[in-house]
Amino acid sequence: VLPTIYVITPTYARLVQKAELTRLSQTFLHVPQLHWILVEDAPSPTPLVRDFLASSGLTYTHLHVLTPKDKKLQEGDPGWLKPRGVEQRNEALRWLRETAAAAGGKGPPPENAVVYFADDDNTYSLQLFEEMRYTQRVSVWPVGLVGGMRFERPVVQDGKVVRFHTGWRPGRPFPIDMAGFAVSLKLLLANPKARFDGDAQMGFLESSLLQNLVTIEGLEPKADMCTKVLVWHTRTEKPKMKREEALVKQGIGSDPNVEV
Ligand code: UDP
Ligand code: MN
Repeated sequence: VLPTIYVITPTYARLVQKAELTRLSQTFLHVPQLHWILVEDAPSPTPLVRDFLASSGLTYTHLHVLTPKDKKLQEGDPGWLKPRGVEQRNEALRWLRETAAAAGGKGPPPENAVVYFADDDNTYSLQLFEEMRYTQRVSVWPVGLVGGMRFERPVVQDGKVVRFHTGWRPGRPFPIDMAGFAVSLKLLLANPKARFDGDAQMGFLESSLLQNLVTIEGLEPKADMCTKVLVWHTRTEKPKMKREEALVKQGIGSDPNVEV
């Protein structure tokens, strides 16, 4: 039986949310033995996401936790000011540990599972999931279109990660984007306190988790020794609503009962 891939995705309500989730879910449908943990940044589960998941055809868990207001980016704040999706990823880690504890060693053996943090706007190659599936501790690979670079990646010598190719602060403990690593569930369960630190300095969020799990020597390079880009840190443009707003003023805006 194939190791399960638990994919953790924070998501929040905005105009493009359903489009993002559609693109993502239709990628995941091609991946065997994938369990999607979708965590809404919301005070309660929303009907849009609940209905979406129910008809997705995926195996999933639907969680939610609202990011506290003081931790949330405000309109006009620069994007780098506060990390996004932190509480949601931690909530998924909590659920994984609780679920494993409740199974009490019965359920599927955790050594047969890997955890990946997949933001809802990135682009994922199917090959990426097969690269990460047999992760022993922490596996790593390049990420395209990130950090103001064509790609960032771990640099591998003699099968080991020796440093990181990045344009910014290469001295960070793990200068790796969220999309650039996966962790074995066994390792997460063996380190019950390991989680993301929302107060971590900008660019140190990934390090805040990984520091408590692994050393650079312990990283497992994938994607042909980190020479292939299989995931892209794409970002979706915010749709313009100029005409919609004009029509709404005239009382003839698009039917609000139609879900977009
Ligand atoms: N996100 C969230 N709440 C927010 C903003 C973002 O849950 O208020 C989620 C978002 O849906 C995505 C992840 O957090 O899955 C990372 O956010 P984003 O893609 O905006 O970050 P960036 O691409 O700028 O790193
Ligand atoms: Mn993003």
